[in-house]
Amino acid sequence: MTTAIYPGSFDPITNGHLDILKSGSEIFDKVIIAVSHNIEKKGFIPVEKRVELIKESVKDLKNVEVDTFEGLTVDYAKRCGTHILLRGLRTASDFEYELQLSQTNNYLSKDIKTVFLMTKPEYNFISSSMVKEILKNKGNIKQFVPKPVYQYLITNCDI
Ligand code: ADP
Repeated sequence: MTTAIYPGSFDPITNGHLDILKSGSEIFDKVIIAVSHNIEKKGFIPVEKRVELIKESVKDLKNVEVDTFEGLTVDYAKRCGTHILLRGLRTASDFEYELQLSQTNNYLSKDIKTVFLMTKPEYNFISSSMVKEILKNKGNIKQFVPKPVYQYLITNCDI
């Protein structure tokens, strides 16, 4: 049984994240989407709410679990009994950052392996920060996020 951890902030989860997750769930027996929780950083959406929204957004994916973690991703992966991390790639700048991150994780834990999946062209420009920026400027974010996230953002986040 192969389990992969898909770690990130997911603040909020977007359709780009979901696409990577769906592909990952076809490759691995189980994927745990793990929301990183930094007590010093409040984030845009409270972590508990992010988890709730992700759970609603992935309810049709039977082999996907949602969790939160603090501290190093490699330690969290160990606690879950796996050495596989899943990450998504969009642009060349993502590649540089992700390469550094994956090498750091590999330095911290020599068994850890990061599997990268490429985004589809239609999700290439979608990021959580872009969604927040559009929302802030009263633009339409409907096409970029799952339905439960859209509902939450337009009713609760008048930023
Ligand atoms: P982090 O805070 O660790 O950067 P994010 O929540 O922003 O986490 O993203 C988690 C993972 O999802 C990263 O590997 C990121 O590159 C990937 N990702 C984000 N947006 C997209 C997208 N539109 N298409 C594919 N992968 C994406």
